[in-house]
Amino acid sequence: MLLIYAGIVAGRLMIPDFVRAAVGAQPYWIQVLEVLVIADIGFYLIHRAFHTFPVLWKFHAVHHSIEELDWLAANRVHPVDQILTKAGSLIPCFALGFSEAALATYALIYQWHAILLHSNIKLKIGPLRWLLASPDFHHWHHSDHKEAYNKNYAGQLSLLDVLFKTAHMPDHQPTKYGCSDNVPETYGKQLLYPFQQLLRRRRRKVSKSNILSTGS
Ligand SMILES: [Zn+2]
Ligand SMILES: [Zn+2]
Repeated sequence: MLLIYAGIVAGRLMIPDFVRAAVGAQPYWIQVLEVLVIADIGFYLIHRAFHTFPVLWKFHAVHHSIEELDWLAANRVHPVDQILTKAGSLIPCFALGFSEAALATYALIYQWHAILLHSNIKLKIGPLRWLLASPDFHHWHHSDHKEAYNKNYAGQLSLLDVLFKTAHMPDHQPTKYGCSDNVPETYGKQLLYPFQQLLRRRRRKVSKSNILSTGS
């Protein structure tokens, strides 16, 4: 709900009404395809930021701590991760004035695709794998193999990783999943984990600067 309001406000502030009207007047399927592309560019960028900035990584580590990948993994996401990812991918689409039907269709495709990507199935899609994200593509993103670190960020269009040179899709399967963070196993502790880590980081910084100032 908050996202819808943020999108409407952002749209009113930044996008002229005639542009929003023209976008919303396009045929339904054209709008769905455009939303898929725009939302996935947003998803790619925010996902990459989660892997790049240590403060954000602690929230995303909850999703990457899974060591046995299956369809349920799609839902093991910290709420902060979920909110920022949805904001990054959907606010531009709301702001541009896409129709509710196109946005709802995108939401359904996204949910179905997220479950498929995490599923423990073999699905060969041939050369299409360089355009569309497949289970193999996302499994490599979750793998704990050095050569696959910080690769395969896209949610739906693997083409984005090809264009940004972050694609990694060898012919064999990963053998190890997870990450180096010691994320707790229970839901409540996982919710607290990023905040505790950030607090620890802050305390370490404060004590380091105290040592430096007393030493000088
Ligand atoms: Zn990730
Ligand atoms: Zn995932």
